[in-house]
Amino acid sequence: MNEFCENQSCENSACGETPLLVDNREHATILAALRFHQAENLQGTGIIQDLTIRDIASNLGHLKTLNSEEIDQLCERINIATEGAYSRRWCCPDCHCTVTCSYDDLAEAGAPYCSDCDSEMLMI
Ligand SMILES: [Zn+2]
Repeated sequence: MNEFCENQSCENSACGETPLLVDNREHATILAALRFHQAENLQGTGIIQDLTIRDIASNLGHLKTLNSEEIDQLCERINIATEGAYSRRWCCPDCHCTVTCSYDDLAEAGAPYCSDCDSEMLMI
């Protein structure tokens, strides 16, 4: 399933996709590294000046490096992917409606409240 395409210059965005499970700290570090790379290496011409970094980002010149906009999109996808992983389903004890809510959304609230009944919802 996740074997790399024989054609290493393949630009099909789904080509060679690899699912990756990371914890919160790893997730934060990946985002920080991407933003650092974007700020340090992709400013101006967009051509990566540091040859070591350029080799890594291009798999030794086999791949077209991501531009700043593509890194924005990647950061967004990484955020969306982990929102799913850290969210839970909640059910209203009165009307039994359900919502999906991430721990980040809850912050200090502890549990979401049903917008119809104003009841504290239960995790399901
Ligand atoms: Zn309700």
